[in-house]
Amino acid sequence: MIIDLKHIFVNDNSSQPLEYSLDMSDLEYMGEYPLKKPVKLKGKIFNKASLVRLEASVVFEYEAPCDRCGTNTRREHTVTLDKSLAVSIEAEESDTILITPDMKLNLDELVYSEVVVSLPMKHLCDEECKGICFKCGKNLNEGECNCVKKEIDPRLAVLAELLKDQNDD
Ligand SMILES: [Zn+2]
Ligand SMILES: [Zn+2]
Repeated sequence: MIIDLKHIFVNDNSSQPLEYSLDMSDLEYMGEYPLKKPVKLKGKIFNKASLVRLEASVVFEYEAPCDRCGTNTRREHTVTLDKSLAVSIEAEESDTILITPDMKLNLDELVYSEVVVSLPMKHLCDEECKGICFKCGKNLNEGECNCVKKEIDPRLAVLAELLKDQNDD
């Protein structure tokens, strides 16, 4: 959606509420399509003393298997937008300044890029998720399995590999 902001730019103390949703279900991330529901934006664009600002929150629901145990997990994330809008192309675009030389704002583009940079690096069903047993595949959040588990110190594993290589020579 493109919003024409001319009436905001030219009128001091004017404002326009924003409520809008964007379908991002075709976005592929980490082998999944996690944004199954439309992303929602709510906020306003306003002119205060000839300074035009956009304040909004963008809410998206992220649905994908837990990184550790694979259980399908949904989590809501909120991105807060607080931007100044500038018409001058001499202003430098940054995280907080948006350049809109023709007084038009492409909301789709803005929301899309803000959501992409806010996608979670880690997605867990629970911070304490125990994951799955690497031997039998049981979900350990549902209880212990009967596998004998040896704690493998990763440093010792490296050492063991090294010794094995030496013996092979
Ligand atoms: Zn989990
Ligand atoms: Zn097991």
